[in-house]
Amino acid sequence: MKLHEHQSKEIFSRYGIPTPKGKVAYDAESAREIAKEIGKPVVVKAQVLVGGRGKAGGVKLAKTPDEAEQHADAILGMDIKGLTVRKVLVDPAVPNKAEIYLGIVVDRNAGAPVMMASAAGGMDIEEVARVTPEKIKRETIDPVLGLQSYQARELGYGIGLDKKRVPAFVKIALALYRVFVETDASLVEINPLFITADDALLAADGKLVLDDSALDKHHDLEMLRDADEENPAEREARTAGLSFVKLDGNIGCMVNGAGLAMATMDVIQFYGGEPANFLDIGGGAKADKVAAALRIILADANVKAVLLNIFGGITRGDEVARGIVEALNQVKTDVPMVARIVGTNAEEGRKILASANMKTAASLEEGARMAVEIAKASEK
Ligand code: GDP
Ligand code: MN
Repeated sequence: MKLHEHQSKEIFSRYGIPTPKGKVAYDAESAREIAKEIGKPVVVKAQVLVGGRGKAGGVKLAKTPDEAEQHADAILGMDIKGLTVRKVLVDPAVPNKAEIYLGIVVDRNAGAPVMMASAAGGMDIEEVARVTPEKIKRETIDPVLGLQSYQARELGYGIGLDKKRVPAFVKIALALYRVFVETDASLVEINPLFITADDALLAADGKLVLDDSALDKHHDLEMLRDADEENPAEREARTAGLSFVKLDGNIGCMVNGAGLAMATMDVIQFYGGEPANFLDIGGGAKADKVAAALRIILADANVKAVLLNIFGGITRGDEVARGIVEALNQVKTDVPMVARIVGTNAEEGRKILASANMKTAASLEEGARMAVEIAKASEK
């Protein structure tokens, strides 16, 4: 789950990282009021959950409240990489001498978090990483010991910071690591970290991506979720407790169990088809959950066939079959479906599905082949 810039900076600030004290506006008039309250030049910044807002014209400097209103008017409603801007952050503008990059991500190869810093921060950091990677300094963090002060100092000197700014930099780096650990983040980033005209350090931008699997520990953070910024299928899947990932193929998959779902996708591809999604309906098979899964799969216009692959274990095959039939009463569709059920009470399950005019397969291979054939035929 991604947090907005203003939410991330609010959290950074609680950990003692200096941030500009701005406010969020949902309309141009409020942006004007906030600018007036701040009483000096401001930056008006689009709050959308993508990077590169600056380059897309979503970050604008305003010298007067009038200008702030005009910029907010232009930015609100703007489309940035497919997302509509619904709110802007109005921050006091800060004159700066330099823009530093500072961030922490999980490095899968090292099996540990890594802190990265660069003197070449700002809007071109991706370009810096590509063309001159030596300008990005890295410190691998021992997850047991945590980030050590000497490592933060090494980064500070490594990016050529003036000696007198290093203590403030170290303080920010250590605080950022605490944010990373205590929010169970997969990424935290300050880009840019300003060296202001009067020589202070200030987090002008903030990014925080939380580990979804840890959100149960952080109800306060989960409340910050912006449902406007999720695509509808993902939102419905999340609220129904389904694991769903949309893909580009045309065969919808509904499977109980993540490993079985992966295997199903492999077998579909083995027979020359392309899965339209990964979907694990998890344990149990209440009709409502199955119906939600079907709705999500069928909302994708690319889907030309659906393969249901069910392993009856503790959840019995006949129960799942009844859930599917009930779900089909809720979700009317012409898209052909193939079901493969094995395990506990599979035979009863197959009978129930066959009586509801669903094609059934005796094996996963057969089911996948059937689904691929149907999908291919309908593309002709
Ligand atoms: P991003 O493009 O989505 O990462 O948005 P940022 O928040 O990083 O803003 C983009 C750029 O706008 C920064 O790299 C700065 O150059 C500039 N900027 C943002 N806030 C201020 C500010 O308060 N003062 C000044 N002078 N520039 C700012
Ligand atoms: Mn930025």
